[in-house]
Amino acid sequence: MSKTILITGGTGFIGSNLCNRLIKDKNNRIICVDNNYTGSLENIKKLLQNERFTFIEHDIINPLTINEDIDEIYNLACPASPPAYQGDKAIFTTKTCVYGAINMLELAREKGAKILQSSTSEIYGEPLVHPQVETYRGNVNPNGVRACYDEGKRCAESLFFDYKRIYNIKIKVVRIFNTYGPNMNPNDGRVISNFICQALKGKDITIYGDGSQTRSFCYIDDLIDVIIKMMESKNDFSGPVNIGNPEEFTISELAEFVKEKINPNLKIIYKPLPSDDPTQRRPDITLAKKELNWEPKITLSEGLDKTIEYFLQKI
Ligand code: UDP
Repeated sequence: MSKTILITGGTGFIGSNLCNRLIKDKNNRIICVDNNYTGSLENIKKLLQNERFTFIEHDIINPLTINEDIDEIYNLACPASPPAYQGDKAIFTTKTCVYGAINMLELAREKGAKILQSSTSEIYGEPLVHPQVETYRGNVNPNGVRACYDEGKRCAESLFFDYKRIYNIKIKVVRIFNTYGPNMNPNDGRVISNFICQALKGKDITIYGDGSQTRSFCYIDDLIDVIIKMMESKNDFSGPVNIGNPEEFTISELAEFVKEKINPNLKIIYKPLPSDDPTQRRPDITLAKKELNWEPKITLSEGLDKTIEYFLQKI
């Protein structure tokens, strides 16, 4: 059966990987929406020639009119890297999360479409429960520098569930943990892109703080698998569901890994830890395993190799 699928944030890291995957099914027509603030047309260059693919330059802060039926909406649009979403972009970030959610939910309501929200591990803030389970309500600083993103995404979740309760919209909510792989923006400022690009250029590797903070990194192909599985899951399952790789590493371990793979002689330098930077983060994925029959397959070592290959071509 043919389907029209709208993806916001479609030129970004996760969005472009999703466009590239979904277009492979000949039954799918893809409408990719992005303002290209952190995304890039380069990521979807090959798709622009495809007659089943349309790109619309649009900021979801504003309502969107589409003159055709839509079956599914993936709402991925939002800058996700701390340097990109904070500072003078902070108010824009909150608007993208909140106005963007309202505008896309209204579109879903008008079209009778199913809609998936890309929520985030950031809704747990500085977690006091470890690993994080979906029932944990989090520990977010509501007025810190990360709040624009964390609270914006929390508000978006509340909007999704209110639209479901009030208008009976079919919603799906995934909480995405740290993800990496091809199509990451080399200038994004995220830890994996920074470390790999620094190492490839022979520069010092910059660890923020003492490097004892932890993250759990999921390779993009695993993440795309589960996002699609979630969209296609049974109607009475809305989530929220954690998606990510539960293997946890300190940032120092990650730096050593990247050094070993690219150049063991590189120097590590230490910079101040950004404010409200979470100390630990790891998803409990019991729910995803049970409801979606999914768990990640690609190890950090394999994923880093593929990502290094990508950045080698890119820079
Ligand atoms: N980080 C680092 N060096 C960098 C970039 C980031 O040590 O060059 C740290 C950052 O402070 C955080 C972790 O790596 O503790 C993950 O940062 P990222 O921005 O990738 O994601 P997030 O903080 O949103 O999980």
